[in-house]
Amino acid sequence: TRKIVFKFVTMSDTFDVVIIGGGPGGYVCAIRSAQLGFKTACIESRYTLGGTCLNIGCIPSKSLLNLSENFSKAKNNFFNVGIETGELTLNLSKMMKIKEKSVTVLTKGIEFLFKKNKVTYIKGQASFKSNNEIIVQEKNSQKIYKANHIIISTGSEPTSLPGIKIDEKIIVSSTGALSFDKVPKELVIIGGGYIGLEMGSIWKRLGSNVTVIEFLDHIVPGMDKDISIEFLKILKKQEINFKLNSKVTAVNVVENKAVVDYTSNETNIRKRIQVDKVLVAVGRKPNTEELNLKKMSIKSDNQGRIQVDNKFQTSIKNIYAIGDVIKGPMLAHKAEEEGIAVAEIIAGQSGHVNYNIIPGVIYTSPEVASVGKTEQQLIKENIKYKIGKFPFMANSRAKVINEIEGFVKILAEEKTDKLLGVHMVGPHAGDMIAEMVLAMEFGASSEDIARTCHAHPTYSEAIKEAALAVDKRPIHY
Ligand code: FAD
Repeated sequence: TRKIVFKFVTMSDTFDVVIIGGGPGGYVCAIRSAQLGFKTACIESRYTLGGTCLNIGCIPSKSLLNLSENFSKAKNNFFNVGIETGELTLNLSKMMKIKEKSVTVLTKGIEFLFKKNKVTYIKGQASFKSNNEIIVQEKNSQKIYKANHIIISTGSEPTSLPGIKIDEKIIVSSTGALSFDKVPKELVIIGGGYIGLEMGSIWKRLGSNVTVIEFLDHIVPGMDKDISIEFLKILKKQEINFKLNSKVTAVNVVENKAVVDYTSNETNIRKRIQVDKVLVAVGRKPNTEELNLKKMSIKSDNQGRIQVDNKFQTSIKNIYAIGDVIKGPMLAHKAEEEGIAVAEIIAGQSGHVNYNIIPGVIYTSPEVASVGKTEQQLIKENIKYKIGKFPFMANSRAKVINEIEGFVKILAEEKTDKLLGVHMVGPHAGDMIAEMVLAMEFGASSEDIARTCHAHPTYSEAIKEAALAVDKRPIHY
């Protein structure tokens, strides 16, 4: 048995605020805590800051989405517009290196921000010893830190389906799919959510034959149905194959290939395909195993998410939780908002997060973006609404650039005209949604948007036109 040596707890190891996890929730919370004058430390077991988002999530996926789109445009579109390049070849390992460099630059950037803000960065695996003591295991040594306030921001990890074991070689999670060393000829993606579709787009553009198998009869569950239908049409045109309403029952590795069994929910007909790689993208689960929560009697819900009140407080008063490890959308910007709010709450300020107005973006081509209620939610909640829609086909900028797929859909309250939800699929939707998030945050009406001058020629004119369409008076359609 290994002898565990506990280091004497000195005053310098005592903090006002200690955050466990250096992802977008944790690192943002650490910086805000330090700004508010707290002596702050952030513990991270990964040896790089930025969490899932920077290391194996948002950032590497967006890097590959951009690089693969450039490749695909050069290969398929340039010739049509008078740019003749000759034969193109893909240097995947160089592309991967560029992706890794983007990750390194950004994770190092957070280390710099920690130094600038005097946040102590502690490397190692944290677990609770008591409600104000944390044990940090780093390689063979352990150290104990004391804190008045502790924030759990340990994020999430991929889940799988019963009986399907992710080996990160042939059956992979998003982490494996961000680092394939060659383009799989045949790729199956289990799950038609945003992670599956972003990864599917990357590998389709680089040359894979991609098949998405989704249990439901539609993709991107939770998004407005009109968007989901249009998005599916667009992805099918890009030659991504879909098996909707189908349940994957087994995936087995046979001679370096994956054999995927799935059954149609409608007909019960069983099918089998053999492919090079399978990406399991069926969701993520909170990451709490190492924390010793049971001993601390910190309560979790039936999905393993730490329970918090509206001040992010767990069942123990000085211990808080934020980000993917609690309820709500598993998104980096949601975690960041919570990180700021909890630091301000601890400082006696009135930090809060407006959960009704958290945007969601899918970074495919075209992009999908949404904020507020979907039409289906309004119907369910018996809220009367008006709709304004405007297609990018009628937007001059989109026409000039030949990115004419998709539309903007605005939902406004019938009587007051207040914006209730905005959903779009189209060019740069992910950036354009910010205008609508701000408008909703200020309680704007669709008329406010319709009467706001939008620069010409921009994609954002489609938003103005959709707002005009709420009042049945679009100009260009
Ligand atoms: P995390 O980012 O998961 O960070 C938690 C950190 O805690 C980790 O670094 C972990 O190592 C550390 N940790 C865990 N346990 C311990 C412990 N006991 N001791 C010390 N450290 C510990 N979101 C978006 O908003 N936009 C996107 O485009 C987007 N794309 C994504 C693409 C992919 C492929 C994936 C997988 C996710 C994507 N996400 C995206 C989701 C986003 O990454 C998460 O919502 C976000 O990272 C959650 O932040 P967090 O701080 O709660 O947790």
